Amino acid sequence: MKILIINAGSSSLKYQLIDMQDESVLAKGLVERIGIEGSNLAHKYGEGLQQKFNLTTAIPNHTEAMNIVLAALTDKEHGVIADTSEIGAVGHRVLHGGMKFTASCVIDQACLDAIEECIPLGPLHNPANLQGIRACQAVMPNTPMVAVFDTAFHQTMPPKAYLYGVPLEYYKKYSIRRYGFHGTSHRFIAGRINEILGMAHSKVVICHLGNGSSLSAVVDGKCVDTSMGLTPLEGVLMGTRSGSLDPAVVECIANNEHLTPTQTLNVLNKKSGLLGLSEYSSDMRDVRAKAAEGDEKCKTALDVWAYGIRKTIGAYAAAMGGIDALVFTAGIGENDGEGRESIVDGLEFMGIELDKEKNARIRGEECEISTPNSKVRVFVIPTNEELAIARDTLELVTK
Ligand code: ADP
Repeated sequence: MKILIINAGSSSLKYQLIDMQDESVLAKGLVERIGIEGSNLAHKYGEGLQQKFNLTTAIPNHTEAMNIVLAALTDKEHGVIADTSEIGAVGHRVLHGGMKFTASCVIDQACLDAIEECIPLGPLHNPANLQGIRACQAVMPNTPMVAVFDTAFHQTMPPKAYLYGVPLEYYKKYSIRRYGFHGTSHRFIAGRINEILGMAHSKVVICHLGNGSSLSAVVDGKCVDTSMGLTPLEGVLMGTRSGSLDPAVVECIANNEHLTPTQTLNVLNKKSGLLGLSEYSSDMRDVRAKAAEGDEKCKTALDVWAYGIRKTIGAYAAAMGGIDALVFTAGIGENDGEGRESIVDGLEFMGIELDKEKNARIRGEECEISTPNSKVRVFVIPTNEELAIARDTLELVTK
């Protein structure tokens, strides 16, 4: 079966067409500036997805975006399928499943209603995700669809991990609690590390380090804690997000800069993190290159970044009462050997011993990067959220 994966944002739509026979990606692409002047499609296909097709045209809404995607996928020149009927199912990435979704689900009216009910928790993403689903339903009314939630994997957390120390009535009335994100990636990695370890019982810390970053503590394949919270703003320092801070900072910035709470949160989401501290870039490669030239702000930003992640690893080892394996994944986790070394530097007391030469060499491939003597095994494992969504979709529609 061929499965189309859709990740819809408010003005963008990412897609991948995966052939589940060999889990190969037939085509992928991105529609940008939906409903804005200068909308365009960037479509990749062919051997190694090296061939490109770009189109700039008016794309007023998500339904039109889907029409353009399907036209690209079935085009005689740059298409990869003859007809849309070859698409057996569609898997949609949905940000917030609140407490309603502990796993992926086939999209029916009840599922759509529940995603809608989670809008207050994901006010920016869920409406866009719903637009993507409705657009697909409009252009492919007979194709089964599945929703895969960023929050679902973390729903196994116990109350001691997900409750905030605020009046309980806010949890009851507004569902304010830790949810966690990147769940599809954490679940994919948790599954793979369990295969590798082959242990009946295991304690693992997963570091998903990309533009957005989150860690999870996973016991026997189940999430027991994670660093992101009610929103993806909490946790470790990220590309443009501050991560955790004293909530009083919000009022302090708002008063001094004459900003509303929403504007202040925008600063914490979009202008903080590596970007805010380095006053240079949110991109790890840029910050690392500038730090190598001796830039003090970039060096400090990298220190803050690594220190926060190191502390979280220590906290999760304590939370789980031990740690068998540590895994790095996502853009930074998979590619940045220097970053990985700086994070585990000083964790030898916990039994973490990195093979520094191997660590420096490994980029974007699965590999054990600890020494044979290391009590804690350390791995790089590339994540693949689209494939995880596709596997769930296949399983649910063929059940
Ligand atoms: P997103 O959260 O947007 O999916 P990614 O997982 O793609 O992000 O990660 C993007 C980050 O990975 C960027 O900060 C980028 O600089 C970093 N990155 C990619 N390749 C490297 C590399 N070779 N060395 C250091 N950082 C890298």
